Amino acid sequence: MSLRDVTIIGSGPAGLTAALYTARANLAPLVIEGIEAGGQLMLTTMVDNFPGHRDGILGPDLMAEMRAQAERFGAQIIQGHVTKVDLSARPFVVNTEETEYTTRTVIIATGASARLLGLPAERKLMGHGVSTCATCDGFFFRGQEIAVVGGGDSAMEEAVFLTRFANKVTLVHRREQLRASKIMQDKARANPKIAWMLDSEVEDIHDGGSGAVESMVVRHNKTGVTTVVPVSGVFVAIGHTPNTSLFQGQLEADANGYLLTHAGSKTGVAGVFACGDVQDHVYRQAITAAGSGCMAAIDAEKFLEAQH
Ligand code: NAP
Repeated sequence: MSLRDVTIIGSGPAGLTAALYTARANLAPLVIEGIEAGGQLMLTTMVDNFPGHRDGILGPDLMAEMRAQAERFGAQIIQGHVTKVDLSARPFVVNTEETEYTTRTVIIATGASARLLGLPAERKLMGHGVSTCATCDGFFFRGQEIAVVGGGDSAMEEAVFLTRFANKVTLVHRREQLRASKIMQDKARANPKIAWMLDSEVEDIHDGGSGAVESMVVRHNKTGVTTVVPVSGVFVAIGHTPNTSLFQGQLEADANGYLLTHAGSKTGVAGVFACGDVQDHVYRQAITAAGSGCMAAIDAEKFLEAQH
């Protein structure tokens, strides 16, 4: 296999924007798309907050557009899942199950995966009432009754945010104690639109045959009593896991596993750049991921220029 200038791992908004920019810089990038090709937007329906789409665009359609745009300028996007990377010496080595690639730079855009409860109905109804992003989907639940699952800062933040739209937000947490910081708890507890089901777990989510969420079944952990709660939305806010296992021991990460970057998208290894949710647990938006993909592309281009 020939030596590549740029290899991008991941094909969400960060990876595909990095592909677009490096392709337009004549660097003929290779994108290895990964198992969750297209990233988290593939799990959503309407995206109304990506600038330039006045009437909104479906998440999978937006990703198809980004992909086609990168390909138009010569990005090569291949199916495949990276199983190993060696960043110890240049050129770097990236392995998929089938092939070994050598590359002068690597752009890591492997994203983060929202943790899910593991209920079969959750996957089936994702984007049809089940959501992992209040910022993206809250707007659709104006005047309705919905639920947020989780007891951390994200769950508190999402519950409070969602009261702007919903009439009632039921917060379901598996323990009596919340994990969230006191200030976030206090804010949520002071909100009269939030109802609490503590020491409780969502056991199932029902659509009543309609294809959209109609209710959830909540079991109290101490009493075992189950309650059917009518809701039209269930926001799962039980954390995210950055997809960084490939880089453990090779790149610096924070306590939660997110890659650390400095001076834009640079990691601690010269020639290796990171962008999107794999290094951002704060903003986590498609547009910020795309923006950081652009930064990684420009940083990689500058790095390559300096090598000549
Ligand atoms: P988190 O702190 O890890 O909290 C996850 C919550 O989900 C916990 O309450 C946990 O329950 C629950 N959970 C995990 N797996 C579950 C499962 N399978 N079933 C049911 N419940 C489950 O995650 P996060 O809230 O996303 O926060 C991540 C980090 O970002 C934290 O450091 C947080 O402080 C920070 N953050 C800060 C802000 C802010 O300051 N504005 C906002 C959002 C996030 P247990 O408590 O029982 O483990």
